[in-house]
Amino acid sequence: MKASRLALIACVSLLLVSGSAAAQQAPSIVAQTGPRPMWIEKVKDGLYLIRGPIDAGCMMGCKPGQTGDGVLHEPGTVAARVTPEGVILVDAKFPQHVPEILALIRSVTDQPVKYLINSHYHPDHTGGDGEMLKRGVELIQQRDLWTSYEAKKLGGGTAHITFDDAFALHLGGVEVDAYHSLPASHTRGDTFIYFPDLKTVHVGDLVIRGMPHIDYTDGGSAVGFVTAIYQLLKLDFDVAIPGHGQPMNREDIRQYVQKVETMNTRMKDAVRRGVPVDRVVPELGLEDLGWAHTASTTNFLTNDVRGYYAEMATIVAAEKRR
Ligand SMILES: [Zn+2]
Repeated sequence: MKASRLALIACVSLLLVSGSAAAQQAPSIVAQTGPRPMWIEKVKDGLYLIRGPIDAGCMMGCKPGQTGDGVLHEPGTVAARVTPEGVILVDAKFPQHVPEILALIRSVTDQPVKYLINSHYHPDHTGGDGEMLKRGVELIQQRDLWTSYEAKKLGGGTAHITFDDAFALHLGGVEVDAYHSLPASHTRGDTFIYFPDLKTVHVGDLVIRGMPHIDYTDGGSAVGFVTAIYQLLKLDFDVAIPGHGQPMNREDIRQYVQKVETMNTRMKDAVRRGVPVDRVVPELGLEDLGWAHTASTTNFLTNDVRGYYAEMATIVAAEKRR
């Protein structure tokens, strides 16, 4: 039961710690963000992002009387590819966000939403699926993602279309490709959604503006993160849409994977030196990686660090046996 609750917490809403101490230590990040209603922005002709809302709410929505947990949250970024025959969406935030997502899309096109592809199963990306299905939108999911999603009863609906490795969707003369990201990294069902004519890719939470979250409850892997991001870099893109935060370029992605590699090396070194798991965090150097004060840091320290330590300990033990 505890594992499934942690999985639900997963990567929900990653921005940054908004407490005053964090604000003093990370002023440049704080200056770029703050509470804000949902908004739409153009990435390239025919491709839009819907971000927000950003607010100091609760991780899974506030119950009556709750006011928030001191962290600014933002559900997963939605991408909307507009074609002459309809709109293709990536991700759908939480159920209560669907009417506003659709209203924002109507502000840029008269075309109806026809397809929705999920980047991974976490509820801040799939929670709105059921509301989209009720409106006649066709849902497409990678098979491992679908299995996790169905097992955890997320989203309020079931996809009619699943795929294993890759899927191409053709609508209105536009192609949208979905690739299962292998090996498992953020989750086991991570999917890149690629817009080849625009050289743009939605990467889900494989890369975010914040510390990586490794969902060990769903087969996540820090080593897998590195391999999967190098696979991503084989695609021909100049803009990457992260699951949380503003768009990135190729160099941003390269720097991100190098930081993950550095952190993995530090964790392995700490394991080799016999540093116990409850004292390992300072060994990771989160400050110089720029990840000491992101909201996903809180999630990492709460949910991921033991799984991460165990993954690296397994690698170190295998090295010793050689
Ligand atoms: Zn996620």
